[in-house]
Amino acid sequence: MAAEAAPADPRGAVVEAGRILAANGHADLVWGHVSLRDADGRGLWLKRPGRGFDELAEDDIQLIDLDGNVVEGRGPAHLERFIHTEVMRARPDVSCVVHTHPEAATTLASTGLPLQPVAHEATLFVPPDIARFVETGDLIRTPELGAAVAAALGDRNALLLVNHGVVVAGPSIPEAVFAAVLLEKACRMQLLALSAAGRRALHVSDDAEALAKRARCYSAEQLHHGWSYLRRREERTDH
Ligand SMILES: [Zn+2]
Repeated sequence: MAAEAAPADPRGAVVEAGRILAANGHADLVWGHVSLRDADGRGLWLKRPGRGFDELAEDDIQLIDLDGNVVEGRGPAHLERFIHTEVMRARPDVSCVVHTHPEAATTLASTGLPLQPVAHEATLFVPPDIARFVETGDLIRTPELGAAVAAALGDRNALLLVNHGVVVAGPSIPEAVFAAVLLEKACRMQLLALSAAGRRALHVSDDAEALAKRARCYSAEQLHHGWSYLRRREERTDH
Protein backbone atom coordinates (compact mmCIF):
# COMPACT_ATOMS: atom_id res chain seq x y z
CA MET A 1 0.00 0.00 0.00
CA ALA A 2 1.46 3.36 -0.91
CA ALA A 3 2.31 5.76 1.89
CA GLU A 4 -0.91 6.58 3.70
CA ALA A 5 -1.42 10.08 5.01
CA ALA A 6 -1.35 10.17 8.80
CA PRO A 7 -4.95 9.92 10.07
CA ALA A 8 -6.40 13.31 11.02
CA ASP A 9 -8.05 11.68 14.02
CA PRO A 10 -5.47 9.34 15.60
CA ARG A 11 -7.76 8.30 18.47
CA GLY A 12 -10.53 7.33 16.05
CA ALA A 13 -8.05 5.49 13.85
CA VAL A 14 -6.75 3.42 16.79
CA VAL A 15 -10.31 2.63 17.91
CA GLU A 16 -11.20 1.43 14.42
CA ALA A 17 -7.98 -0.61 14.13
CA GLY A 18 -8.78 -2.34 17.42
CA ARG A 19 -12.31 -3.18 16.37
CA ILE A 20 -11.10 -4.63 13.08
CA LEU A 21 -8.49 -6.73 14.90
CA ALA A 22 -11.13 -8.02 17.34
CA ALA A 23 -13.44 -9.00 14.51
CA ASN A 24 -10.70 -10.85 12.64
CA GLY A 25 -9.04 -13.30 14.99
CA HIS A 26 -7.18 -11.03 17.42
CA ALA A 27 -9.63 -10.66 20.31
CA ASP A 28 -8.31 -11.84 23.69
CA LEU A 29 -10.61 -10.31 26.32
CA VAL A 30 -8.91 -7.05 27.41
CA TRP A 31 -5.43 -8.01 26.23
CA GLY A 32 -3.59 -6.92 23.10
CA HIS A 33 -3.00 -3.44 21.69
CA VAL A 34 -2.35 -1.53 18.49
CA SER A 35 -0.42 1.73 18.27
CA LEU A 36 -0.19 4.60 15.81
CA ARG A 37 2.84 6.88 15.66
CA ASP A 38 1.99 10.50 16.49
CA ALA A 39 2.25 12.69 13.38
CA ASP A 40 3.87 15.48 15.42
CA GLY A 41 6.66 13.30 16.82
CA ARG A 42 5.35 13.19 20.38
CA GLY A 43 5.28 9.39 20.60
CA LEU A 44 2.39 7.04 19.84
CA TRP A 45 -1.34 6.52 20.42
CA LEU A 46 -2.34 3.39 22.36
CA LYS A 47 -5.41 2.23 24.27
CA ARG A 48 -5.43 2.30 28.06
CA PRO A 49 -5.32 -1.01 29.97
CA GLY A 50 -8.43 -2.96 30.92
CA ARG A 51 -10.44 -2.34 27.76
CA GLY A 52 -11.19 -4.89 25.02
CA PHE A 53 -10.62 -3.99 21.38
CA ASP A 54 -14.33 -4.23 20.60
CA GLU A 55 -15.48 -1.81 23.31
CA LEU A 56 -12.98 1.01 22.77
CA ALA A 57 -14.05 4.65 22.76
CA GLU A 58 -11.87 7.56 21.74
CA ASP A 59 -11.26 8.61 25.35
CA ASP A 60 -9.71 5.18 26.00
CA ILE A 61 -6.77 6.16 23.75
CA GLN A 62 -3.64 7.67 25.31
CA LEU A 63 -0.69 9.55 23.83
CA ILE A 64 2.51 7.91 25.14
CA ASP A 65 6.03 9.22 24.57
CA LEU A 66 8.82 6.89 23.43
CA ASP A 67 10.03 6.54 27.03
CA GLY A 68 6.65 5.08 27.95
CA ASN A 69 5.15 8.07 29.82
CA VAL A 70 1.48 9.00 29.39
CA VAL A 71 1.42 12.48 27.83
CA GLU A 72 -2.34 12.70 27.23
CA GLY A 73 -5.26 10.58 28.33
CA ARG A 74 -6.50 9.00 31.52
CA GLY A 75 -5.24 6.15 33.65
CA PRO A 76 -1.98 4.21 33.68
CA ALA A 77 -0.33 2.92 30.52
CA HIS A 78 -0.22 -0.68 29.31
CA LEU A 79 2.56 -2.69 30.94
CA GLU A 80 3.67 -3.89 27.50
CA ARG A 81 3.83 -0.42 25.90
CA PHE A 82 7.59 -0.95 25.46
CA ILE A 83 6.91 -3.29 22.53
CA HIS A 84 5.47 -0.28 20.70
CA THR A 85 7.89 2.38 21.92
CA GLU A 86 11.01 0.35 21.20
CA VAL A 87 9.89 -0.95 17.78
CA MET A 88 9.04 2.61 16.75
CA ARG A 89 12.35 3.90 18.14
CA ALA A 90 14.26 1.27 16.15
CA ARG A 91 12.15 1.51 12.98
CA PRO A 92 11.55 5.01 11.57
CA ASP A 93 9.65 3.34 8.71
CA VAL A 94 7.05 1.92 11.12
CA SER A 95 3.97 3.94 12.12
CA CYS A 96 1.79 1.12 13.41
CA VAL A 97 2.57 -1.82 15.71
CA VAL A 98 0.12 -4.58 16.58
CA HIS A 99 0.68 -6.78 19.62
CA THR A 100 -1.92 -9.47 20.24
CA HIS A 101 -2.30 -13.06 21.46
CA PRO A 102 -4.06 -14.75 18.53
CA GLU A 103 -4.72 -18.43 19.13
CA ALA A 104 -3.48 -20.02 15.92
CA ALA A 105 -0.27 -18.01 15.58
CA THR A 106 0.59 -18.52 19.24
CA THR A 107 -0.16 -22.23 19.00
CA LEU A 108 1.90 -22.68 15.83
CA ALA A 109 4.81 -20.77 17.43
CA SER A 110 4.89 -23.25 20.30
CA THR A 111 5.46 -26.14 17.88
CA GLY A 112 8.74 -24.65 16.65
CA LEU A 113 7.70 -25.48 13.09
CA PRO A 114 8.45 -22.98 10.33
CA LEU A 115 5.55 -20.95 8.95
CA GLN A 116 4.74 -22.51 5.56
CA PRO A 117 2.71 -21.11 2.64
CA VAL A 118 -0.27 -23.47 2.78
CA ALA A 119 -2.22 -20.83 0.84
CA HIS A 120 -1.70 -17.20 -0.15
CA GLU A 121 -1.61 -15.61 3.31
CA ALA A 122 1.75 -16.85 4.59
CA THR A 123 3.54 -15.55 1.50
CA LEU A 124 3.31 -12.05 2.97
CA PHE A 125 5.75 -13.26 5.66
CA VAL A 126 7.85 -16.11 4.23
CA PRO A 127 10.44 -16.73 2.86
CA PRO A 128 12.56 -16.44 4.92
CA ASP A 129 10.87 -18.06 7.90
CA ILE A 130 9.04 -15.66 10.17
CA ALA A 131 11.09 -14.00 12.94
CA ARG A 132 10.76 -15.33 16.50
CA PHE A 133 11.47 -13.99 19.99
CA VAL A 134 12.41 -16.69 22.50
CA GLU A 135 14.21 -14.77 25.27
CA THR A 136 11.07 -14.99 27.40
CA GLY A 137 7.45 -16.04 27.05
CA ASP A 138 6.57 -13.59 29.85
CA LEU A 139 5.30 -10.03 29.43
CA ILE A 140 7.47 -7.46 27.64
CA ARG A 141 7.46 -5.12 30.62
CA THR A 142 10.72 -3.15 30.39
CA PRO A 143 12.37 -0.93 27.79
CA GLU A 144 15.21 -3.47 27.62
CA LEU A 145 12.85 -6.31 26.73
CA GLY A 146 11.10 -4.03 24.24
CA ALA A 147 14.44 -3.28 22.59
CA ALA A 148 15.22 -7.01 22.45
CA VAL A 149 11.87 -7.64 20.73
CA ALA A 150 12.64 -4.84 18.25
CA ALA A 151 16.05 -6.40 17.56
CA ALA A 152 14.46 -9.82 16.95
CA LEU A 153 11.93 -8.23 14.59
CA GLY A 154 14.76 -6.52 12.68
CA ASP A 155 13.48 -5.16 9.39
CA ARG A 156 10.67 -7.75 9.13
CA ASN A 157 6.91 -7.16 9.14
CA ALA A 158 6.05 -9.77 11.77
CA LEU A 159 7.44 -11.68 14.72
CA LEU A 160 6.20 -14.60 16.79
CA LEU A 161 6.61 -14.02 20.52
CA VAL A 162 6.94 -17.70 21.35
CA ASN A 163 4.60 -18.80 24.20
CA HIS A 164 3.01 -15.34 24.19
CA GLY A 165 1.66 -13.84 20.93
CA VAL A 166 2.67 -11.82 17.88
CA VAL A 167 4.09 -8.45 16.91
CA VAL A 168 3.24 -7.04 13.50
CA ALA A 169 4.69 -3.75 12.24
CA GLY A 170 3.96 -1.62 9.21
CA PRO A 171 4.16 1.87 7.79
CA SER A 172 0.46 2.49 8.44
CA ILE A 173 -2.55 1.04 10.26
CA PRO A 174 -3.93 -0.55 7.07
CA GLU A 175 -0.70 -2.39 6.33
CA ALA A 176 0.04 -3.55 9.88
CA VAL A 177 -3.51 -4.53 10.82
CA PHE A 178 -4.18 -6.25 7.50
CA ALA A 179 -0.91 -8.17 7.86
CA ALA A 180 -1.89 -9.22 11.38
CA VAL A 181 -5.22 -10.54 10.07
CA LEU A 182 -3.45 -12.48 7.31
CA LEU A 183 -0.86 -13.90 9.74
CA GLU A 184 -3.49 -15.39 12.01
CA LYS A 185 -5.36 -16.90 9.05
CA ALA A 186 -2.12 -18.35 7.65
CA CYS A 187 -1.29 -19.99 10.97
CA ARG A 188 -4.82 -21.35 11.42
CA MET A 189 -4.72 -22.98 7.98
CA GLN A 190 -1.30 -24.49 8.62
CA LEU A 191 -2.51 -26.01 11.88
CA LEU A 192 -5.51 -27.46 10.04
CA ALA A 193 -3.26 -28.88 7.33
CA LEU A 194 -0.90 -30.37 9.91
CA SER A 195 -3.76 -31.98 11.81
CA ALA A 196 -5.08 -33.59 8.62
CA ALA A 197 -1.71 -34.61 7.20
CA GLY A 198 -0.59 -36.84 10.04
CA ARG A 199 2.97 -37.94 9.26
CA ARG A 200 2.84 -36.77 5.64
CA ALA A 201 4.70 -33.61 4.63
CA LEU A 202 2.52 -30.67 3.64
CA HIS A 203 2.34 -29.60 0.01
CA VAL A 204 3.23 -25.91 0.13
CA SER A 205 4.48 -23.20 -2.23
CA ASP A 206 8.25 -23.19 -2.75
CA ASP A 207 10.16 -19.98 -2.11
CA ALA A 208 9.98 -18.76 -5.72
CA GLU A 209 6.23 -19.26 -5.91
CA ALA A 210 5.75 -17.68 -2.49
CA LEU A 211 7.67 -14.56 -3.50
CA ALA A 212 5.73 -14.32 -6.78
CA LYS A 213 2.46 -14.64 -4.87
CA ARG A 214 3.53 -11.99 -2.35
CA ALA A 215 3.93 -9.52 -5.21
CA ARG A 216 0.75 -10.59 -7.01
CA CYS A 217 -1.68 -11.30 -4.17
CA TYR A 218 -0.55 -8.51 -1.85
CA SER A 219 0.23 -5.69 -4.23
CA ALA A 220 -0.62 -2.20 -3.03
CA GLU A 221 -3.90 -2.38 -4.93
CA GLN A 222 -4.89 -5.76 -3.49
CA LEU A 223 -4.05 -4.67 0.05
CA HIS A 224 -6.12 -1.54 -0.43
CA HIS A 225 -9.10 -3.59 -1.59
CA GLY A 226 -8.75 -5.99 1.34
CA TRP A 227 -8.43 -3.24 3.93
CA SER A 228 -11.33 -1.26 2.47
CA TYR A 229 -13.50 -4.38 2.76
CA LEU A 230 -12.56 -4.87 6.41
CA ARG A 231 -13.50 -1.22 7.10
CA ARG A 232 -16.85 -1.55 5.34
CA ARG A 233 -17.63 -4.75 7.22
CA GLU A 234 -16.72 -3.06 10.50
CA GLU A 235 -18.97 -0.10 9.66
CA ARG A 236 -21.90 -2.47 9.15
CA THR A 237 -21.40 -3.89 12.65
CA ASP A 238 -23.79 -2.48 15.22
CA HIS A 239 -21.77 -1.62 18.33
ZN1 LIG B 1 1.17 -9.62 25.40
